[in-house]
Order: sequence, then C-alpha cells, then structure tokens
Amino acid sequence: MRPPILDPLFRPVTSLTGIGPKLAVILRKLVGRPETDATSRVIDLLFHLPVAVIDRSRQPGIAESPEGAIVTLKVRIDRHQPAPRGNRRIPHRVYADDETGEIALTFFHANEAWLERTMPIGATRYVSGKMEWFNGRPSMVHPDHIVSEEELAELPLIEPVYPMTAGLSRKTLLRAIASGLSDVPELPEWLDPAVVAQRHWTGFGPALDAVHHPQSAADLEPAAPARGRLAYDELLASQLALALMRAHQKRRAGRARVGDGALRARIRDALPFSLTDSQEAALADIDTDLGAPERMLRLLQGDVGSGKTVVALLAAAAVIETGAQAAFMAPTELLVRQHARTIAPITDAAGLRLGVLTGRERGRERDDLIAGLADGTIDLLIGTHALFQAGVTFRDLGLVIVDEQHRFGVHQRLALTTKGDATDVLVMTATPIPRTLVLTYYGDMDVSRLTEKPAGRRPIETRAVPLDRLDQVVSRIRSAIAEGAKAYWVCPLVEESEALDVAAAEDRYAALTAALGDVVGLVHGRMKPAERDAVMARFVSGEIKVLVATTVVEVGVDVSDATIMVIEHAERFGLAQLHQLRGRVGRGDKPSVCLLLYKAPLGAVARDRLTIMRESEDGFVIAEEDLRLRGGGEVLGTRQSGTPGFRIADLDVHADLMEIARDDARLLVDTDPGLETSRGDALRLLLYLFGRDDAIRLLRAG
Ligand code: ADP
Ligand code: MG
Repeated sequence: MRPPILDPLFRPVTSLTGIGPKLAVILRKLVGRPETDATSRVIDLLFHLPVAVIDRSRQPGIAESPEGAIVTLKVRIDRHQPAPRGNRRIPHRVYADDETGEIALTFFHANEAWLERTMPIGATRYVSGKMEWFNGRPSMVHPDHIVSEEELAELPLIEPVYPMTAGLSRKTLLRAIASGLSDVPELPEWLDPAVVAQRHWTGFGPALDAVHHPQSAADLEPAAPARGRLAYDELLASQLALALMRAHQKRRAGRARVGDGALRARIRDALPFSLTDSQEAALADIDTDLGAPERMLRLLQGDVGSGKTVVALLAAAAVIETGAQAAFMAPTELLVRQHARTIAPITDAAGLRLGVLTGRERGRERDDLIAGLADGTIDLLIGTHALFQAGVTFRDLGLVIVDEQHRFGVHQRLALTTKGDATDVLVMTATPIPRTLVLTYYGDMDVSRLTEKPAGRRPIETRAVPLDRLDQVVSRIRSAIAEGAKAYWVCPLVEESEALDVAAAEDRYAALTAALGDVVGLVHGRMKPAERDAVMARFVSGEIKVLVATTVVEVGVDVSDATIMVIEHAERFGLAQLHQLRGRVGRGDKPSVCLLLYKAPLGAVARDRLTIMRESEDGFVIAEEDLRLRGGGEVLGTRQSGTPGFRIADLDVHADLMEIARDDARLLVDTDPGLETSRGDALRLLLYLFGRDDAIRLLRAG
C-alpha cells in the first residue's frame, strides 16, 4: 500500500485548479507516463519541467525597446480603437504611451468588453510581451501579461517555459503546476544528509519547487542543484529497484540444469546453417548459467537479423532435455505466429512438442493447450502475454524467454517468474542499447551480445531521397518487382494519432495500387490480427509484392526475400526505429536497398540521423550516436529530449550521478535488504514517487 503521506501527489490531475476531464486527456499525452493508460497524476505534472525561461526583467521604455525583444513596459492607456463591425480581420488596438513614445497593443478576435475592462482609459498598466516594430511604429501583439500597479507582484519577471501541446494554454498549465506545488507534503529525507549538504542540494520538496521557479537560464542546466537533486533521486529509484530485484532473484535459489545434449544435437542437425561464433559464445554463457545453482537472468542483445531466435530455441532445448518446459513470449500476436512458423519445422524435426497461445485461442483448442501445459505434453509454449493469464499452469516451467523486452515492463518481467519454481529467464532485445543504458535498464542482468551477422549476408545500400522524387522511387520499385523483388513501404508517424497514421497508410496504399496494380497490400495497427496475418501470409507467399505498413512491422517481422525498404518521412523517425526498420531487409543472400524518403528541408538533427544511417549498419554504433544526438535534444516540442525511460535524469550529463546511484543502491540493499530502517521507509517513498514500487512488492514476496 502506498503511504498516505504521498496521496496529494498521486491524485489525478483533475484535482488541480483549472484541470477538467478534457484537459486531463491532453495532459496525459504531454506528461503522462507513456507505458500506462491511467490518467496522469499530480506528480507526473510536477515532473514536467521547464525547458527555457523568458526574462521579462528588461524595462527599456517604448522607444528603446528593440524589435523582437521580450520587454515589460509601464504605460498609460490613451484610447481604444475597436475593430470595425463585421470585419474581424482588423484587430482591436489599444494605444498607450510612456515618456519615450506611443505603442499600439494589438488584439485579434478580441473580447472587446474584456479589453475595455482590463485597460480603462487613463489607467496605468504594466504590459509584458514581444516588441514588434511595424512600419517604424512600435506595437505588441497579444501581450503575455497586462497587470495594474497593485498586481505587479503577479507579473513573473523570470517566467518558466514548458513543453506545450495544442489545446493547453500556458496560463492553465502554470496555474495547475502552482496548485500542485502548494500541496507537496513534507517528506523525510531518503538521501544521506552529508551528500545533500556537500552537493548544495535541498530536500525533495524544495527542489521540486525550485525547478519550477527558475531565477535564470542557469537554473535550467542539468547540473543546477535542484535539477541535480531530482535527477539523482530518479536514478537512485531506478537503481534501487534493480538492486532489490537482483537481491530477490539471488535469494530464490535456482536449479542446476544440465541436459544430455541430445535434443540440441537434433536441432542443430535440422538447421540449414551453422551457428556464428557470437551465437556459440552466447550459448556457452547460457549453458554456464543453466548449469549453475542460481537463477539465470540474462539479456541477449543482438541486432535485427543477428539470429537470436535460434539461440533462444537451443536454450529452450537445453532446459527441455532436463524434463522441464520452456515458454517463449513475444510482444504481439503477429510475432508469435511468425516465431511459431519458423520454429515449427525445426522442432518437428527434433521431436519437440510445440504449443501456441495468444488471446485468440478459444474453447476446445485452448482447453487442450492448457491441459497439455499442465501435464507436460507440451515442451515449448510460444505466446503473447496471454501466457501469464491466470489458469495457465505449467507442469514444470524451467525457462522463460522474452523477446523484444522494451515492449514489456519490469512488472511483467517479474510476473514471468511466478509461473514456475526457480524459473530461469532469458530476455532478448534487438534494440542495441548502449552500455550506459544497459546498466540503467538491466542493471540486474548479465549480458551476452551477438555482434556479427550470419554469414552470407550482403550489406544494405542506404540512400536518402527527397520526397519530391517519389515518382522515380515508384518506377524503380515497379521494375524491381517485375524482376521478382519484394518491398516494404513504411508510412510516416503522424503526430501521435494512430487514426491519422492509418489514414496516411491507406492513402499511400491507394496511390501505389493505382501505380503498380494489384500487387500491393496494407497492414496497420487497427486491423484485426487475423486480417493482418492474412495479408502478411500473402506477402510471404509472393502474391503481394509491396507491403504498405505503419510501424507495426517494426518489430521482428521476417520475410527473408524482401530486399527493398522504403521509409516515407524518414525524418520523423528516431535512429533506433530507422535501424530496426532497415533490418527487415538484407536478410537473404540478395543485395538490398533502403530508401529514406525525406521531406526537405531537413533540420540539423534529422540530417545527422540520415547521414548516420547511410554510413553505418552497426546497431551498436547507431545506438551510441542516437544517444549523442538525443542528448543534443529537440526541446520545446511535445517530444522530450533526454534519456528514454527517465523524466528528469539525462545520462549524457548525469552519467556520474548514475554510477554513484548504482553504488549507493547496492550498499543500501546490502545493509537494509528489507528497507526496514527509518531511512528504508523514506526510500520506499522514493520508489513510489518514481514509479518503481514494483520492487516493494518483492520485499514482501521474500
Ligand atoms: P533476430 O531474431 O536476431 O532478428 P532471427 O533469429 O530472426 O534474428 O534470424 C534472422 C534470420 O537469420 C532467420 O531467417 C534465421 O533462420 C537466420 N539465421 C540465424 N542464424 C543464422 C546463421 N548462423 N547463419 C545463417 N542464417 C542464420
Ligand atoms: Mg527476432
């Protein structure tokens, strides 16, 4: 149970001044934690930090105010010039002056009554906003602030600027944040007071207050005390959660599993290729883990197409040789089907009994499957998270393999291990996470990496092509498919709206069908799984030559004879995503191309991304570059810069804090493994604040 002292921070944002249900939806997109659907809470809003400041302290007088500058002016209101009736395009102007000159305060589509009330003739007002010289005449369009002398204290001379989104006004956001801040409870200190003092930090509450009231641009620096403090809190919460998880895993003894190798030998015989050195090395790591009496908790990292699935299958076989079962979990039904399709011929040849479980199996089929798992007739189960529904029991689940971990949370990772006794865990990810991030997300895991591509792979030729050469691209595809090629055509992300994504993909599908004839298919996230699978099957069989897709094809889809990847609006994708998408081709022995269609002109970051894509095919290199570019950040948009998974900390600048947090976390868990001291109590609060409270459940699970 969350301690009640935190309640004010965990109330929904609708409890704040000025936030109703409609704004709550908008806010959830802006500040909500991406992995949850729940409405955002006060704490989410308070972790939404300013990215800039507006300095309104300049008061140069009207005549001395430079074009474009943000200034505050003390003026006397002279007269109103309302917009002529029926012509709303002409603004309402309010003329005002100071001792240096006259200014026109300009309002479009104004509420006249409000303007006259706010600025009565003869009154003195402070106005603050952007100065514009229009035909040599000073003006200010829609001043940000208009206050009387009595209200001057309310005019922020240094004003924080937050990432915004459509439908939300700055005033509303500021008011909601102020309302949230006024409710922050006084919390006990969870950090070592000596460290807090040495770094000139304050407590959590005052730090939170300070980050929302920057006094200068320097306060926005990641190293500024208030930000540093909160970043450290966030890092410590994540490292503490991982340290608790690690300790928990260790406490629960594993089983030493040593098979006779017979099943593995049959599988290797059934493979049409021999393993790469990387694959062999990863398997050796896994064998060592399985043979040890502790639980295995291993991350298998490898680029798309590096052959992780075979490694997973052989790991499963090793466990099955000892009489136990294995489960293989993939994030989507599509991927489950695909894995089943590729694995089945091999497992059949090797005499392994395979089951498939997704949300789709019903009735008799499902009952048989469940029975087979319970009595052990099924050796290997492939499934979505449906695998972990209540009612699914295994006779003896020895190994859980999780594909594409980044789609699953820590929470699910924990749920996995509850289905068996001393279950070993192998997590696979195609996201080539940089070393610093491995520590961050998987600090509790051992890591194996597949660093080479299977033999016979041909490099992918990557080209960036402006969108206005679309016609050439289409005719190139026309001739390629005439020679038997298959192409993916990935459609852009439109904002964050799936409906718009789908509309864009449907338009492209229609246009390509018109240009190329009846050989184009379409898959997107809004189709029923069965429909989508059917289209995929037609693409695999070659009935469809061009597959238009939204990013549902991003993860793991394997059509090894596809050789063309077109990514439309490539400038809208992140590097990791581009790399993942490109990895869909270049899987066979024929040369492949990846065409990055971009809309000119490109921004600096987008240009760098496309250049990196052209120059490198190495996922690890790309991941490091990605981190570097994102550190540079595209701020001020809805997209936050910084380290994925973190609200405040940014590993580019807080890497030193990260190391300290990891050491502190380990020390804390060593000295107070149950978080039972009073400091432990405070640390529990920290885990709740940063959404790492899954780890607290482990303390009880024992
Ligand atoms: P990943 O899951 O890492 O993206 P896969 O396991 O799906 O990669 O493998 C991609 C393709 O490469 C599959 O068709 C697989 O059969 C093949 N493959 C895997 N290992 C090898 C190897 N050592 N030599 C040749 N082909 C391989
Ligand atoms: Mg895969």
